[in-house]
Amino acid sequence: MGLCGLLPPRICHAAGYCCCTCISWLPRAGVNALMFWGFYTHCFSLAPIILSTAHPLLQTIAILWVATLYGLSFISYFETVRIGGGSPLDIPGFSVPLAVVQECCTLSNQPSSSPSSPLPLLPSSSTLDLALLSSRSPPPHVPSYTAKDNGLLRFCGKCLAWKPDRAHHCSSCGRCVLRMDHHCPWFATCIGFRNHKVFLLFLGYVSIFCLSCALSAAIGVYLFLNTEIDRLKHGATDAAFVPVNWIALAVVASVMGFAVTVFFLYSLYLAAKNSTVIENLEETRYRTSLAPAHFRYTAPPSSRSVGNIFDLGWRRNLAQIMGRDPWMWWIPLPLPRAPIDHTSPAAPLDEEASVAMLEENNDTTDYDKAGHCRWNVYPVGVVSGAEGDGTWYPVNQALLQAAHLAADSETQRLAQMYAHRQRQQELMREQMLDEENYAYYAHHQNILHETPHGVPLADL
Ligand SMILES: [Zn+2]
Ligand SMILES: [Zn+2]
Repeated sequence: MGLCGLLPPRICHAAGYCCCTCISWLPRAGVNALMFWGFYTHCFSLAPIILSTAHPLLQTIAILWVATLYGLSFISYFETVRIGGGSPLDIPGFSVPLAVVQECCTLSNQPSSSPSSPLPLLPSSSTLDLALLSSRSPPPHVPSYTAKDNGLLRFCGKCLAWKPDRAHHCSSCGRCVLRMDHHCPWFATCIGFRNHKVFLLFLGYVSIFCLSCALSAAIGVYLFLNTEIDRLKHGATDAAFVPVNWIALAVVASVMGFAVTVFFLYSLYLAAKNSTVIENLEETRYRTSLAPAHFRYTAPPSSRSVGNIFDLGWRRNLAQIMGRDPWMWWIPLPLPRAPIDHTSPAAPLDEEASVAMLEENNDTTDYDKAGHCRWNVYPVGVVSGAEGDGTWYPVNQALLQAAHLAADSETQRLAQMYAHRQRQQELMREQMLDEENYAYYAHHQNILHETPHGVPLADL
């Protein structure tokens, strides 16, 4: 029997949480200790000795150079951890209440929940009726261009939330992350939509910082050995040892500097291509007019067959991550967050689904009469205006057409249909009000025409 069997579950859960928090802080502490060690060794041990004969201005510049890089790296690191990648759970409309999800699960497979897990575990998505769920708790009305492997809408059974384009669930963070790049163990957080800029800046600054420290430590060791050899040649008998700090810094900083520089260049390449580490490794499937059943026999359009539809050219791709003002690119502050746009029409999808189902005598399958999947026309995505240029994940229209998505026109059609239906409902409401007024008027007319005995005149 383990320790957890002896303690109350709440204490066990709290202890587990504390342990996880402590463990996640270890790499953070390690990275910061290494950076501080490099900064301290360069500024207070190496620079004063290497440049002892140099001009004081050169000494000051050498120290300020590394100190500035250290400061910028530290701020970028802190901001990357503080901001986090961003999650659809933070945006209203994406989460679905547990009770609703449970109601939409088929009865044959009752949802099982583990007491050790803070999140309710649901049965596999095949037991979850996504059509029903979408009509009960539809995702926000914004375009979506990606699909699950079977062509259906993306839903996270762990977060109980609709997954917008490019969002993925991180098992380490325990939640979905917007435009997830990767989970970084050195930060103990995910790199995603919100902290991508500061993360790239950190990589850039820290690679220059590491290479600068490695260079100064290597020069320090070289000069020290040269002086020592000269001294021994001239008959000195007492051998001095090179400070271990210097050798260690030369080795560690050059290895780290090389590794970080390679990763920085790779990340920069992906950013210029508007791709993420996950998208670069995995194939992204796009929504299409193919029915899910066809996914088994024909290859649906994907990032491999059509290309990356989010690629808008390197300038616009970089501007999406770094911001539109190139002067602000170098400052380790996140992009300003535009207010969330709640003005778009709310969920025409359930209307579409319910009308289609009514028309087909309560046929609740995923296909319409023509064999097209109803899911294809469901717009889902993220609210607009968050990236400063009006849309969240703008797409390359040419590639979109190549993928036969035409999601925009479909969204427009739905929006028009929704507006039309709203007008109809308003008309009906007005008509009902008229009828109520008429009934009220008629009622009062009756009272006026009542006889003293309470019997309406009309009945006499
Ligand atoms: Zn999730
Ligand atoms: Zn993560």
